[in-house]
Amino acid sequence: MSLEGAPPLGPRPTVRRVSTSAIRANVRAIDAYTGPGVRILAVAKADGYGHGAIAVGHAMVGAGVWGLAVSLVEEAVELRNAGITAPIVVLGGVYANTQALVVGYDLRPVVWEATHLRTLARQARSSGVRCAVHLKVDTGMTRLGVLPGDLSALLEVYESECADVLELEGVMTHLACADEEDDTTSAVQLAAFSEVLGTLRGRGHAPSLRHVCNSSGIVTAAQGHYDMVRPGIALYGAAAREALEIPGLVPAMSVESRLTGLREVPAGSKVSYGHTETLTRDSVLGIVPVGYEDGYPRRVSGRAYMLVNGEPCPVVGRVTMDTCMIDVTNCSAASGDLVTLMGRQGERALSVYTLADWAGVIPYEILCGFSKRVPRLVR
Ligand SMILES: *Cc1c(COP(=O)(O)O)cnc(C)c1O
Repeated sequence: MSLEGAPPLGPRPTVRRVSTSAIRANVRAIDAYTGPGVRILAVAKADGYGHGAIAVGHAMVGAGVWGLAVSLVEEAVELRNAGITAPIVVLGGVYANTQALVVGYDLRPVVWEATHLRTLARQARSSGVRCAVHLKVDTGMTRLGVLPGDLSALLEVYESECADVLELEGVMTHLACADEEDDTTSAVQLAAFSEVLGTLRGRGHAPSLRHVCNSSGIVTAAQGHYDMVRPGIALYGAAAREALEIPGLVPAMSVESRLTGLREVPAGSKVSYGHTETLTRDSVLGIVPVGYEDGYPRRVSGRAYMLVNGEPCPVVGRVTMDTCMIDVTNCSAASGDLVTLMGRQGERALSVYTLADWAGVIPYEILCGFSKRVPRLVR
């Protein structure tokens, strides 16, 4: 077992456990779902959705994904410096003064503006290398990408000024509503993307990697798998909503702590900030050294429970910055007992969906939200 992440494992027993075998199993589950001929561009942005980009990046590449995608050039540089040699796509594009890094670290940026093409071509030419790019078309997300109406003008710039050093390896778009119930937008976006491919073909371009689907799209817009899919959250064993889970996923992160003490307190006691809860019986409260600074959301107060000895133990009163109190009256707990905040304990499991529901956020925010104060134990 190795410890990965900046802070050393401290005396405090609050940790994230990350399973690289779960990551590998999830790559296989996605592969099985999309079938042969569809590659995986594994999204490892935001420090691998909080799991540790370097460890999960190595696991994903080892499991056979085509490449990794990150948002930022600096995230890509971190992966390269950690010895990852697989293709890395930079989803956030070529923003100011990143051309030298993009070319120097052999990254594949997403491009959608003439400036991206021109500055990158200049850099590639002066470095004497070719650079592969992925063209992003905005078919309805209205975030990044060239509008279909502006595509021909952009291709004109590519053809006349950049084609000698830039290789149009990929073309992509991003679905805005793939995880919504009653999604009718994805079909419209896929039709627009198909027209875009026609425009490209008409000008003699046939990028070998056409990719559209994030994790939700893999399930809800399956006619858009094309050559490659771009899962993020599925690789970590979850989905935007539980109903959209790809079969066979295994959660890759669990979060646990240990009781650092017990308190016997009488009925009528009011607990934690704001005295939002009053004990209705004589109770045993357990002290759990985790709080909202660690990414355990304060908003779960009054709804959440944690698992001790396989039993659900409600969080009593407000979650504070560093500490929660839980009711262990019924579970014969002892100081030092394992507390599971997210993950499996005995017969029971506490999923990321449950935490997200309690906190009123999406599962992504829970996974990305645990702070660097919570060491990662990577297996
Ligand atoms: C983050 C991201 C993804 C992955 O999304 P998930 O919902 O986590 O699968 C795919 N494509 C782009 C462009 C992204 O920004």
